[in-house]
Amino acid sequence: MLFTPRTGQGDAHVDSASIMTFMPFAEVEQWAGSHNTTAEPGTRNTDYEAFKQRKAEEVLRAVVRRFPQLSDAVRGMWTTTPLTFRDYIGCPEGTTYGIQKEATAPMRTYLSPRTKVPNLFLTGQNINLHGILGVTVSSVVTCAELVGKRYLVEKIQRETGGGEVVVKG
Ligand SMILES: Cc1cc2nc3c(=O)[nH]c(=O)nc-3n(C[C@H](O)[C@H](O)[C@H](O)COP(=O)(O)OP(=O)(O)OC[C@H]3O[C@@H](n4cnc5c(N)ncnc54)[C@H](O)[C@@H]3O)c2cc1C
Repeated sequence: MLFTPRTGQGDAHVDSASIMTFMPFAEVEQWAGSHNTTAEPGTRNTDYEAFKQRKAEEVLRAVVRRFPQLSDAVRGMWTTTPLTFRDYIGCPEGTTYGIQKEATAPMRTYLSPRTKVPNLFLTGQNINLHGILGVTVSSVVTCAELVGKRYLVEKIQRETGGGEVVVKG
């Protein structure tokens, strides 16, 4: 995924691009014992820096095939790996979008908002869907466990002036 976030320079152009692609944790596992954030600085050795540089160039080569004009327009690159996400977000193995779902057997990776521990509920991207909208929906699903689905949906409808929603189950 490549996107060009708006900067403070006005609407005419952008001056940066963010590029995201897949990286299995296994690729950075040899540095798993290290930790580094701005708040808690640590060190990762030069092998890691060389690895990131190599990967960044690999990704850039792929992007330049599609957007050749980028090839001599790069002034600097900043890279992140699953270790970065792990250290900042606290997610195991640096996953961006939560646990890996099993598409062929979805129930095997289904997490219920209600747990077997009384009064312990779960919410967030592993419950339903990832992303900002996904976790908003997850919070509704979890709240429904607490106050009841019909009550919650009717209250949302009332507050938002929404149309009719059929509540099943
Ligand atoms: C780089 C990146 C870009 C993204 N871009 C988008 C986007 O453009 N649009 C979009 O919809 N989604 C995007 N996402 C996905 C989206 O951010 C997530 O799906 C969403 O934030 C997940 O919400 P959550 O509440 O489940 O978990 P999080 O937002 O990860 O919240 C979990 C919180 O728990 C804390 N925590 C973890 N472990 C502990 C612990 N042991 N004790 C105490 N606290 C702990 C973490 O610090 C964190 O604050 C992006 C994710 C990443 C990583």
